[in-house]
Amino acid sequence: MKGNFRRIIGVFFLLFCGLGYVQAQKSALRTIIVDPGHGLPDPGARGKYSNESDITLAVAKKLVDKLRDSLPGVKVLMTRTDRNLPGRLENAAQANRWRAKFANENHGDLFICIHVNDAPSTTHRKVVGYRTKVYYTGKGSKRRRHTRRVPRYSYYKVAGTAHGTETYVWAVRKNDSKQDFVQNSHPEELYGEKGDSSVPMFSSTEEKILATIRTKKFFSRSLLLANLIEEQYVKQGRFSRGVKQRNEVGIWVLHATAMPSILTEIGFMTDRSEEDYMNSQGGQLQIASNILQAVIKYKQLLDAGNVH
Ligand SMILES: [Zn+2]
Repeated sequence: MKGNFRRIIGVFFLLFCGLGYVQAQKSALRTIIVDPGHGLPDPGARGKYSNESDITLAVAKKLVDKLRDSLPGVKVLMTRTDRNLPGRLENAAQANRWRAKFANENHGDLFICIHVNDAPSTTHRKVVGYRTKVYYTGKGSKRRRHTRRVPRYSYYKVAGTAHGTETYVWAVRKNDSKQDFVQNSHPEELYGEKGDSSVPMFSSTEEKILATIRTKKFFSRSLLLANLIEEQYVKQGRFSRGVKQRNEVGIWVLHATAMPSILTEIGFMTDRSEEDYMNSQGGQLQIASNILQAVIKYKQLLDAGNVH
């Protein structure tokens, strides 16, 4: 009986904290993490004359400047400000762990990851002449020699023709993984003020429930921002390939960050005019401004309490 009573109080306490958390989240865009994809020694996709990692850095820097100007109350951090990855990071997997750790340790409320797309080239063949092939039929005295003309081919690659923008959220079936990170990344928030050890700890079940609530909320917020960003690209006159869910290595960072997280592919490296656009000051400023407008709208919706 006493146990039951405790459990009921526990559930009420949990609901109360949950509500408090939702309330607190209404004006909860306090820290934005901007993550320029890749970084040397990992250049990312290569175009005719430029690297993905340099473009993402240039756009991210412009975005950060704009965010700081337009949202002075919001702390904006970059995962890297240099062409190189920091420290001894050697590969994409290590770098992704570091990105997620950086975002989680800095208690980001939003993670914006910037990348450039790459359309794989396809191999085709064309007939460049013919040769004579000899073959035999029958056995013994019936054995006959024949010849046949067969085409000779030359193989060539055709660059991918895809172009446009697309923005990713993590695959919904990865919610369990996201939930683990959510549960492990901000435990102190579950116990009251940071560093206040006098507040009783939740059981792991209760923590898990809270982490589930947050993960769902983070997912719908990520989807909202992703849609707002693509809307802005379209307004700019870009071709939008839409909002997508992806579950590849590069996307791991989206479910390893305990906050709403999106990854925006700002164009195709393999499309010559998009490579030019993404390398131009004007293009970079437009892309940064498109993302900024989306974040401003996202914040307005959050602050107005229109988003759960
Ligand atoms: Zn990339």
